[in-house]
Amino acid sequence: MSSTNEVRRSFLDYFGKAGHAITPSAPLVPYNDPTLMFVNAGMVPFKNVFTGLETPPAPRATSSQKCVRAGGKHNDLDNVGYTARHHTFFEMLGNFSFGDYFKEQAITHAWTLLTREWGIPKDRLTVTVYHTDDEAHELWRKIAGLPDERIIRIPTSDNFWSMGDTGPCGPCSEIFYDHGDHIFGGPPGSPDEDGDRFVEIWNLVFMQYEQQADGTRRNLPKPSIDTGMGIERIAAVLQGAHDNYDTDTFKALIAASEGLTNVAAQGEQAASHRVIADHLRSTSFLMADGVLPSNEGRGYVLRRIMRRAMRHAHLLGASEPLMHRLVPALVTEMGQAYPELLRGQALIEEVLEREETQFRRTLDKGLKLLDEATGDLGAGGELDGEIAFRLYDTFGFPYDLTEDALRARGIGVDRAGFDTAMARQKAAARAAWKGSGEAASGEVWFDIAEREGASEFTGYASTSGEGRV
Ligand code: ATP
Ligand code: MG
Ligand code: MG
Ligand code: MG
Repeated sequence: MSSTNEVRRSFLDYFGKAGHAITPSAPLVPYNDPTLMFVNAGMVPFKNVFTGLETPPAPRATSSQKCVRAGGKHNDLDNVGYTARHHTFFEMLGNFSFGDYFKEQAITHAWTLLTREWGIPKDRLTVTVYHTDDEAHELWRKIAGLPDERIIRIPTSDNFWSMGDTGPCGPCSEIFYDHGDHIFGGPPGSPDEDGDRFVEIWNLVFMQYEQQADGTRRNLPKPSIDTGMGIERIAAVLQGAHDNYDTDTFKALIAASEGLTNVAAQGEQAASHRVIADHLRSTSFLMADGVLPSNEGRGYVLRRIMRRAMRHAHLLGASEPLMHRLVPALVTEMGQAYPELLRGQALIEEVLEREETQFRRTLDKGLKLLDEATGDLGAGGELDGEIAFRLYDTFGFPYDLTEDALRARGIGVDRAGFDTAMARQKAAARAAWKGSGEAASGEVWFDIAEREGASEFTGYASTSGEGRV
């Protein structure tokens, strides 16, 4: 069995030996892209290298990059606790060629590492290519000896990556592991592809074109490679687990959460423990990289994640703040690979405890209101948007927390009603400012708050295809 820490080392060693500069993870707050909320892929820190704005640190690089997908287009928040394979925080292992090697070597490396170094049986693997990418199809046949039915041509943006409206782009190839027919799900491209049987482990991006402003594409003189593999997913495979939450790191965090709550991670409670373990990681890593809870922008995403976890702690019956007491378990698991956790530990614990103490003051009352408002509703019902807004405004319930709280009962939330109530309150606040004789500055301030407060940065994250790594 390979621990997650061993998998990381083994990946970086493999590519290090193959001439790649081993590069430490960049912080979660992107230094090179103000439109992006958090780093959400291994290539993000190298973005300017791929566009030619920066000189490459070396012709080839490899990294294990901290990623958060909890806002903007790549938002996996709602999947957490409910799929076997999604986290808000995860590490993306990657190898990069900056105009050096291309498709053939990228495929050869991926295949050699998976099947020779790590010994994954070939018949467990299925790959996809972009439907027009005959070259990749042929390479998979030649290098891996895969039969045609396991090199699936996909016509959607899942298999075509682009950085934005303009800039580098190209087809990609995703590698899937088949966890076996006892698990629900079908191969990529099939109607049941969203099940957990075939799990995407690795995404290889072949940057071979440049998208021009006039809509045309030209061939890049020096095509590049960007790949991304979720360490939690490959660790699951190598540890013989189907579910990411059954890997060493998560087992340790869930055990700590079970120990503190005295509730076993079984049945309905399992999802709560998973959410807590996942959100402990994302919130701690975000704070280690300097993000602090607030009511707008990045800080509000952080607060939203925290409060969701805190509601689940409450659900498990925790009668006092819990999250901060889990931080030592996280530091034990990941502090060696990420010393910033150790450096930030005291601050992280302090902020978590303060936030949870504060939120617990209104949590009970808010939940009571929520119960009263939904008592008569069955599955398919919808919570009044006005109440969702009151929960937000008076009790500090982020919108998505309310949604999460009702999910198990199959009840939705009236989003339009919530938005209307929010807009009305903003208008009232604006009017109050005008009345105070400071109309000009007040207006500016509210406009900024509104823009930032939307907290869904789009830009880069939203213009690219879903298949980006
Ligand atoms: P999926 O289709 O499963 O949502 P994706 O295609 O969105 O994955 P990519 O953007 O291609 O993912 O990211 C590269 C790799 O990072 C994936 O192949 C997967 O191993 C991993 N990964 C992506 N999202 C997550 C997540 N939310 N949690 C854990 N690992 C992830
Ligand atoms: Mg995804
Ligand atoms: Mg992908
Ligand atoms: Mg995918």
